[in-house]
Amino acid sequence: MTPAGTAGATAPAGAGTPAAEFPRPVPVPDERSAPFWAAAASHVLTAARCARCRSLAIPPDQVCPHCDATDPEFVFEPVSGRGRIRSWTVVRQSFLPGFNAELPYLLVDVELDEQQELRMIGRLLDGPDSPVRLGTPVRVAFEDLADGVSVPAFVLASDPGSTGGSDSTGDSGSTGGSDPREGA
Ligand SMILES: [Zn+2]
Repeated sequence: MTPAGTAGATAPAGAGTPAAEFPRPVPVPDERSAPFWAAAASHVLTAARCARCRSLAIPPDQVCPHCDATDPEFVFEPVSGRGRIRSWTVVRQSFLPGFNAELPYLLVDVELDEQQELRMIGRLLDGPDSPVRLGTPVRVAFEDLADGVSVPAFVLASDPGSTGGSDSTGDSGSTGGSDPREGA
């Protein structure tokens, strides 16, 4: 008898490859994100600019998140890749076996300098014990996962201002909550 309504339980029947090695999952560009990943392969971070309101979006949706235009005609353009940490979390357990070798690592939620609320989430490559706090400056870096496949991440950047970040807010460990790239 086949039980009805067991959707979602995909049995790994006859997965031919042995589990000897788990490569990290690589992004699969769709039509909308293809320019983003093409630029990333050249280690250039891009954001999509709405043709209607000129705002930037990462990643672009079908509707502009700023002006709600349904025909934003997004055009990708390079951004500086510099920003500041808004929140972060230490990832100690990966749901994707391909990331096990990287554990633990810091996942940072960064607001890019280009625009308020232009946020991007990525790994911080400086290690899990990096001295991060709210407002810590970072810049983009790229992890080359495969030939022609690079994923944007972040590294700590030196603050052009002073080192006087004296406020230690108790917000450490706050998770970003809604991670649009989770599991990507
Ligand atoms: Zn817009």
